[in-house]
Amino acid sequence: MNLKQRDKKHLWHPLTQHKIHPDALPIVKAEGALLYDDNGNEYIDGIASWYTAMYGHCNSFILERVNKQMHTLDQIVFAGFTHEPAIELSEKLIQILPDNQEKIFFSDNGSTANEVGIKMALQYHFNKGEKRNTIVAFEDGFHGDTFGAMSASGLSVYNGPFEDFFIDVRRIPTPTKDNFDTVIKTLRQIIETNPVAAFIYEPLVQGANAMHMFQEKYLDPILKICKENKIITIADEVMTGFGKTGKNFASEYMETKPDIISMSKALTAGFVPMAVTSCTQEIYNAFLDDSIGKAFFHAHTYSANPIACSVAIAGIDLLSTKDTQENIARIIKSHQEFNDVIKNHPKIKSTRQKGVIYALDLNIEMDRYGKKRYEIFDHFMQNGVCLRPLGKTIYILPPYVISEPQLAKVYTTIEKLLNQL
Ligand SMILES: *Cc1c(COP(=O)(O)O)cnc(C)c1O
Repeated sequence: MNLKQRDKKHLWHPLTQHKIHPDALPIVKAEGALLYDDNGNEYIDGIASWYTAMYGHCNSFILERVNKQMHTLDQIVFAGFTHEPAIELSEKLIQILPDNQEKIFFSDNGSTANEVGIKMALQYHFNKGEKRNTIVAFEDGFHGDTFGAMSASGLSVYNGPFEDFFIDVRRIPTPTKDNFDTVIKTLRQIIETNPVAAFIYEPLVQGANAMHMFQEKYLDPILKICKENKIITIADEVMTGFGKTGKNFASEYMETKPDIISMSKALTAGFVPMAVTSCTQEIYNAFLDDSIGKAFFHAHTYSANPIACSVAIAGIDLLSTKDTQENIARIIKSHQEFNDVIKNHPKIKSTRQKGVIYALDLNIEMDRYGKKRYEIFDHFMQNGVCLRPLGKTIYILPPYVISEPQLAKVYTTIEKLLNQL
């Protein structure tokens, strides 16, 4: 049996309707910006394997660090014990996070990082003797697939079976020039009529919502209103974190800094799963008490796994190098030049960019999960480029190590598609 046949025997893939989906493609090797399948074909990873492998696949600098850590300390319970990789990572994160962040809490993935953020916010108020149980979130936001994160996610087309069990979430639209006044009015109404505990949001770019972008000048006032009303702001930087928007964190674009920040994905550079929820001293202090009851009783077995921490430390070291920063600037410029060439194409409805994230909407009729989507995906793969269209949106979020010729090939393949549509 080949890999495809063996895969079908026992595996159940995420986000997959197995009755109609084509077979999963076996990938046997990855290096830098390239993926290799079981037939020896290579593909440029235009989306950094869901925004994780930003420093390139199997990065040798990271590998060396992980290898060393694996031979030194693999795992230790993080309740009652500590270790240098976690300590060093907390120091490095605090250095690059917005100034108001002081504490680091570990979990395993983006969903749990948000779950932790939501629980922290709810218990913060509880510990202060206030019962606040409403969460505010953007329409069409995405925060993950565990219950709290799923409740906060507005992209709930497929949440039907679970909706009865959701926590209480009220929604506002993402702000634009035209709807700004309405958004503010709606937010104020929600605050007046509900005990709002927290506002969770993806800062400036909503990944799963087809790379929808909005401007800092419209988000900042929303955050200010939250602060005025003692509503805990939770920035979900699971996608936007670690340089992708052109700054280490998208939250740096706003004057008002979040109380809590969740991060994962590029945190561990595509090597192993891990997540962090950071918070301010003010949040942390609300959990300090002589009785144990006010403590944060949330744990995952692999919290602060030393191997994962060593990967994250190496990743931050790489992010801070001149090489990486120059690569980010180079990709931003290349995207802009490509956009100048392509933006008036008759098959394009609109384009947008934030940092190394570039997206365009096709000017055609199609379903998010329809047949056309697979045809477009196949076009890219047959041309050696891995891009996953989100409905009629095609986006590029390449690893920082992608070379200019590789990037040029991604652009040409998109142009070819546009000319064939
Ligand atoms: C991917 C993602 C999540 C969920 O992370 P998982 O690791 O898949 O659980 C949450 N929020 C945002 C913004 C994401 O992009």
